[in-house]
Amino acid sequence: MITSVTISSNSNAKSAAVPKSTAALSIASLAEKTSLYLDDAEVQQVKRAYYYAEQAHDGQFRRSGEAYVSHPLAVADILANMRMDYQSLIAALLHDVIEDTSVSKQALAKQFGETIAELVDGVSKLTQIEFASKAEAQAENFQKMAMAMANDIRVILVKLADRLHNMRTLGIMRPDKRRRIARETLEIYAPIANRLGMNDVRVEFENLCFEAAYPMRAERIRAAIKRVRGKRNVLVEETRLQIENYLNEAGIQARISGREKHLYSIYRKMRQSKKTFADIMDMFAFRIIVDNVDTCYRVLGAMHALYKPVPGQFKDYIAIPKSNGYQSLHSILIGMHGVPIEVQIRTEEMDEMANSGIAAHWLYKQGGDYSSALSGSHKRARQWVQGLLEMQQNTGNSLEFIENVKTDLFPDEVYVFTPSGQILELPQGSTPIDFAYAVHSDIGNRCVGCYINRRLSSLSQPLKSGETVEIITNTSARPNPIWLEFAVTGKARSHIRHMLKSQRHNEAIELGKRLLEKALQGLDCSLEKLPATAIDQLLQTTKYDEFEYILEDIGIGNRAAYTTAKQLLSNNSITNAAPPQAVDLVISGADGMMFNFAKCCHPLPGDPIIGHMSVGSGVVVHVANCPNARNIRKNRATVIELHWAEKVDGDFLVPISVEIRQTRGIVSTLATKINSLDASIESIHVCDKDEHSSRVDIMLSVRDRVHLARIMRHIRNIKAVNRISRTKETSLQRKLH
Ligand code: MN
Repeated sequence: MITSVTISSNSNAKSAAVPKSTAALSIASLAEKTSLYLDDAEVQQVKRAYYYAEQAHDGQFRRSGEAYVSHPLAVADILANMRMDYQSLIAALLHDVIEDTSVSKQALAKQFGETIAELVDGVSKLTQIEFASKAEAQAENFQKMAMAMANDIRVILVKLADRLHNMRTLGIMRPDKRRRIARETLEIYAPIANRLGMNDVRVEFENLCFEAAYPMRAERIRAAIKRVRGKRNVLVEETRLQIENYLNEAGIQARISGREKHLYSIYRKMRQSKKTFADIMDMFAFRIIVDNVDTCYRVLGAMHALYKPVPGQFKDYIAIPKSNGYQSLHSILIGMHGVPIEVQIRTEEMDEMANSGIAAHWLYKQGGDYSSALSGSHKRARQWVQGLLEMQQNTGNSLEFIENVKTDLFPDEVYVFTPSGQILELPQGSTPIDFAYAVHSDIGNRCVGCYINRRLSSLSQPLKSGETVEIITNTSARPNPIWLEFAVTGKARSHIRHMLKSQRHNEAIELGKRLLEKALQGLDCSLEKLPATAIDQLLQTTKYDEFEYILEDIGIGNRAAYTTAKQLLSNNSITNAAPPQAVDLVISGADGMMFNFAKCCHPLPGDPIIGHMSVGSGVVVHVANCPNARNIRKNRATVIELHWAEKVDGDFLVPISVEIRQTRGIVSTLATKINSLDASIESIHVCDKDEHSSRVDIMLSVRDRVHLARIMRHIRNIKAVNRISRTKETSLQRKLH
């Protein structure tokens, strides 16, 4: 039998998740509400606190023009709806008294007792906090918050209710202030509410913040929901009836409600999973509330018999509750007309816990029905707060502390610091490249290296929360294509791609021009000597709009320079049919985008080299005696004779292999030696050959062949080194690319 059925809608952010009465609040209405669950003496105390606050705030007004006392009254009302105990209500009524009036903590203690004075004092301390963007200030805020919570967790509940009422009445504020408060609430209060399992409060925070921070987006989503709601509700009701009948026949008593996703969660889903509004709204969600845990599993069985479950989508949070105490069974099924349905099955108590979290503890305590699950939730919240405090004692460093807390509140993000102490929030897995672009796109584009916690580090190193990152820039530096292999943020990736595209385009044109010029020379011609009509004719016979696109394609390797040269000349009665000649080019730097240094032989300036045009990627450079170069020579048309310029800019990667006797600290001796010789280690890999010796594979970054020879000579002189060689194919290289 179904006791009650509701189709609830949380989509309208203005309808509070925590119920609030529409009638104007008064102490009479609060007294009436509280008399339902408090005893007479307690209600009298609450009333007394109200009159005390009214007097203390006499002559003060809110921005809306109302008497100031209307605010503490509203905060107390929020807590009364959560059925919080009378001390919390009194603290709520008095929460701004110490801060905003001449009344002292001692005076409050005398009037209402030590506990309430402490509560009010705790809330005041939190209120005084101005959330600045400076990391230190933030850290302090979190510390204060944790301390306040540890003393009496009700402090944070009063503070959350205070913030909730301020958010509800945010409309009167200046837009910039409104956005700042909204952001702060989203960053700090909503996650705390979530951590304490207070889902209703979290949802309302999120919706109110979303409205305040992004009014236009909120409006658009609201309008979209309104458009689909009518048709949707018919389907929801149809499905709900079907579930209801099925459970009825199975003799199961349940309360079934269809629910809509709230505004902010739709927005978040659209952004995070790149889903369309229609995708998200296509899913129907139902909540089935029953009397005990046993029935939960019976309902699950019935649901899986009624509709086909989607494999891998069943989650048992009853057996394994979430860290904030949330318990429920979740499953996704394919319902009528193939529409996916998400069901949540839980008991009445679990539902209360899911909505009110830690606050449910007081609700049940008041009712005398103190379930073990709920006392468990309270214990968990206490443990969390306790953990925070221990963390603070262990770290002793407020910045580290805030990182730990934030990591705990937002496990999917890392928080790193700029050298000046500013905090940046990045997605998990972000690297210094992401960091550089997050600071400024110019920093990203000119980035050449980085320090993590003052140590020179690789740009591909994933960042951990709490690390301080400093980016080394060079005005002539440009993005490296390899960055795309490890940059994770959209901002970094789009900037890198954009820069690479234009850079590549220009370099390809430049290279294409040089290659074509060489090919023409081989045919006793040159671009200059070419009749002006030759290029126009070529453009007409090919699909190209402009000559530079032909040059680009030659540079990239999509078009052969020799063939193009012949085409240019054939129309002009030059019939010199000399076979293709290998063209030669000079390499003057390490980071030209159209030169790729082969990973099989790692050529260094000074090595004899040979190159070939590779389709789509320009010139690939090999050491002349590289085994792979042998095949290349077979195709004369693509071979390019290469020479190093007298002075070559940049650093080149080269692998070496060092065999060492097992001696303590030898690897660090090697590293120090290499660094002292002005080379750097890109990667290092130690493998033990036997118990007496090991092989160390090192990827070095050096200037040229002479530089490498000097390094190898110095390493050979280290006592524990048996043998050293420049390696060709190693596991190290394969791992790198
Ligand atoms: Mn307040």
